[in-house]
Amino acid sequence: MDLAGLEEVVAVHDRGSLAAAHDGDPATAVLAGGTWLFSTPQPQLRRLVDLTTLGWEPFTVTGEGLRLAGTCPVSAVAEVPAQPGWAAHPLLRQCVRALLASFKVRSVATVGGNVCLALPAGSMTSLAAALDGTAELWAADGSVRRLAVADLVLGDRRTALRPGEVLRAVTLPDAALRATTAFRRTSLSRLGRSASLVVGRRDLDGGLVVTVTAATERPVVLRYPEAPPAPVVARDVEQRVAASCGWFDDVHGAPDWRRATTLRSVAEVCEELA
Ligand SMILES: Cc1cc2nc3c(=O)[nH]c(=O)nc-3n(C[C@H](O)[C@H](O)[C@H](O)COP(=O)(O)OP(=O)(O)OC[C@H]3O[C@@H](n4cnc5c(N)ncnc54)[C@H](O)[C@@H]3O)c2cc1C
Repeated sequence: MDLAGLEEVVAVHDRGSLAAAHDGDPATAVLAGGTWLFSTPQPQLRRLVDLTTLGWEPFTVTGEGLRLAGTCPVSAVAEVPAQPGWAAHPLLRQCVRALLASFKVRSVATVGGNVCLALPAGSMTSLAAALDGTAELWAADGSVRRLAVADLVLGDRRTALRPGEVLRAVTLPDAALRATTAFRRTSLSRLGRSASLVVGRRDLDGGLVVTVTAATERPVVLRYPEAPPAPVVARDVEQRVAASCGWFDDVHGAPDWRRATTLRSVAEVCEELA
């Protein structure tokens, strides 16, 4: 879609020019893959700041874990090579496939765009929340802030990003990548948008982490030092959702159906990991 109100698209090549162009002005937005920005009218915008010209390495594997650049294409996440001991590696591909779009969209949509757009069905949010991903946020004043992705996404299209902040990278820690994971995704139709996405994670120390996305406005993460019986986890998920954000309601699924589906998936992932 043509964004008729735009006056300028600024290509930035380093942190200084990014900070100067993206200073928190509400008429300015950063442009990543553009798969959402160009899909709907943006009457408030006069300027786009193109992040793709920064030339960030899409992903790097370090002793710390896996660092995904904000501009890493979603499809590239599925191409991260498996490392010895990374039992959670299949989750990368599962979450890429959970972004229900053609290969054309997946190959330009970015990790940063997906997380910062903050749709409940944001599958890179699901991945990062399930694996304790930390967001590295660059502010226009040159400072850097780190925040768990599960805390960065606050609700449907709402984040904790401050004006002028840019998601530079998401780091998935090595310890979480060594965990065993179980994945369940449900949608109303075979090729529909995720209505419920549950990831169970069994850490090497025996701990259990259960993450719910898509069925709730924001990620819901429960942690246990040891795995309790599945019905206990399902009950805890229900209580946590009721006490926090509630079950999400949109054309991709009614709240009562999302609740039932999610609780079934929670029980299944717990049994799979037991
Ligand atoms: C056919 C189709 C299917 C889709 N299916 C899904 C789906 O299943 N789930 C889903 O979540 N989305 C879906 N989307 C929406 C969207 O394509 C994705 O969320 C995509 O990942 C957005 O990434 P992008 O790089 O294209 O973001 P853009 O469109 O470039 O930007 C999206 C928003 O994020 C901001 N932003 C981008 N990068 C950063 C950054 N690094 N730091 C700070 N802010 C940033 C932008 O300013 C903008 O507000 C779909 C879109 C299409 C066209």
